[in-house]
Amino acid sequence: MRWAALGLVAAAGLSANAAAAPPPRWVDAHTHLSSRSMERAHRVMDQVGIDWAVNLSGGWPGGPLEESMDAAKASGRELVCTNLPWAAARRFPRFPEGAAKLIREAAGLGARCLKIEKALGLVVKKPDGTRVAVDDPWLDPIWETAGAIGMPVLIHTADPEAFWLPVDEHNERRAELTAHPAWSYVGREVPPFADLLDELMRVVARHPDTIFVAVHFGNRAEDPFWVAEQLERYPNLYVDVAARVPELGRHDPEKLRQVFLRFQDRILFGTDLGVSGEDFLMLGSFGEEPNRPEELVPFFDAHHRWFETRDTMPSPTPIQGEWPIHGIGLPDEVLEKIYVRNAVRLFGPPPAKATTWRMRPPYFRAD
Ligand SMILES: [Zn+2]
Repeated sequence: MRWAALGLVAAAGLSANAAAAPPPRWVDAHTHLSSRSMERAHRVMDQVGIDWAVNLSGGWPGGPLEESMDAAKASGRELVCTNLPWAAARRFPRFPEGAAKLIREAAGLGARCLKIEKALGLVVKKPDGTRVAVDDPWLDPIWETAGAIGMPVLIHTADPEAFWLPVDEHNERRAELTAHPAWSYVGREVPPFADLLDELMRVVARHPDTIFVAVHFGNRAEDPFWVAEQLERYPNLYVDVAARVPELGRHDPEKLRQVFLRFQDRILFGTDLGVSGEDFLMLGSFGEEPNRPEELVPFFDAHHRWFETRDTMPSPTPIQGEWPIHGIGLPDEVLEKIYVRNAVRLFGPPPAKATTWRMRPPYFRAD
């Protein structure tokens, strides 16, 4: 009752604050920003208090990475992850060694992280035409190199579990899958969801000197307590919350709060914010059309409120399912780590124009 009342009071003050552009207070460690849309990206970031962002779509050296790095430098508010040209795995038996060279080159250009797309495990093929499993030893030079140069690996494996289930009235993600029929894996030649997650955890186990950030809350927000077991087992494992607050928020908030308290040094704030061109906006996920500008502030406000209060509130991403979510009300010192400090620790010095070193007053809390 008390929390609900506080939430209401704070929410009433929110619209005035939001209109006046909130002070920067968090780092979005999971974004996809087009290097040609940085001015628009800055406007978006200013509207919702993102001090700086990690762009997971940098490309590779000789691909668009140089352009991404130039844009990041000019921006002063962006760090960049490099990617790998996975289509080449089908053609070159020595792809992993080539990829390792690209990673070193990307680090030389200033990339701070390596982002592995979900294609690995689902569709990437070897020269003999077989699927490359996430834990295929063939790829070990990639993980070893990232570990050797201290570059964290952000890895997306699989997809929401519902994408493996028939798209019918029992499927919780029916709205999302109806808007994007190609996202469904039913009838496609892909491994079962659980097998992909097992492959991922075997890689994490085999490379203890490499830091893995399993994005989308360990790629298994449907079962955050399974993810907590993995965090317990593997000190080199980190997670972000990108596009998964709706899944996380439906679990027992007190139990989940304990997970966030226990692993407060290895959880990153991130949203899967996408900005490209003059029109494209993605807020975690989207329907048949990209997200509308007026959805931006409520989306980020819902994240604040979820982290900072114990309110029950509507999902920030209704296309993923319309259930209410339950806030976990973290203490300030934990918020500061998840919003800012863990990203600095993991990715190194923030970009030139970063200002967020100290936690700003939490948004929703009355004290
Ligand atoms: Zn993403």
